[in-house]
Amino acid sequence: MNRVDDNIAFAEDGGQVCSHCGGVLAAAGEPHLHRALIRVGEVSLAGPHVRAADPPVVDEEVQFRQLLCPSCGTALLTEIAATADRDTRTASVTARTSRG
Ligand SMILES: [Zn+2]
Repeated sequence: MNRVDDNIAFAEDGGQVCSHCGGVLAAAGEPHLHRALIRVGEVSLAGPHVRAADPPVVDEEVQFRQLLCPSCGTALLTEIAATADRDTRTASVTARTSRG
């Protein structure tokens, strides 16, 4: 099974599954982590040592985002991103084949 990282693997049909529980994260043809749950909130949710800069260093409101496996809750991706930026999760990942 080809892996994207420690938590995400490719299914036989090209979809993405959780490496821990086998939960479907994206069916074949769906965008990367399309079925993952998203947790959104204040930047402080990232941890006690993470906070929005004061004064701000960018002219955008930022937020904490965490994508979770819908079956077991494993954190798949955690980021601080501009609230208005909704296109960062449209990136796609393709499986490498052993044929090179
Ligand atoms: Zn899982």
